[in-house]
Amino acid sequence: MPRWPQVSVGERFWAKVAMASPDECWFFTGAKNDDNYGMLRIGSDRVYAHRLAWVFTYGALEPGLIIRHMCDVHYPPGNVRYRLCCNPTHLEKGTDTDNMHDSYTTGRRLPTRGPRASHAKRWGGPARQLSVP
Ligand SMILES: [Zn+2]
Repeated sequence: MPRWPQVSVGERFWAKVAMASPDECWFFTGAKNDDNYGMLRIGSDRVYAHRLAWVFTYGALEPGLIIRHMCDVHYPPGNVRYRLCCNPTHLEKGTDTDNMHDSYTTGRRLPTRGPRASHAKRWGGPARQLSVP
C-alpha cells in the first residue's frame, strides 16, 4: 500500500489531474462518486476534486459557497464529464442560489461581459499570480 507521509495534499491532488492546455478541461483521474464528481480522500474525509482545485489555486473557500463548472456549456446535455474537470480557469465560485438560477436559464455561457467578465479577466491575471506561493 502506498503511504504519503511527507507528500502534501496539494501534490497528491495535482498528481491525479490530467493537466492540458489552459483552454482544455483538466480531468481528475482519481476516484469519482456516483454523480461523476472527482473525489479525493483526505484523512477520513472525501472531498470534491474541483473544490480542491479551487482552494489550491485561489485560496480558502468561504463557508456556504459552491464551486461551479463553467465549461459545462461545451458538453452535450446529459454528458457530465465536465464534472471531473479541475482546470481552475473553468471554475467559478457561487452560491446554491446561483446554481439554481443557472439551471433555469439558457444563458450558461462563458462570460464576455457583466460581473462575471471581470472574474474571467482576473483568472488569467493578478489573482492567479497571487496564488503562487
Ligand atoms: Zn473544464
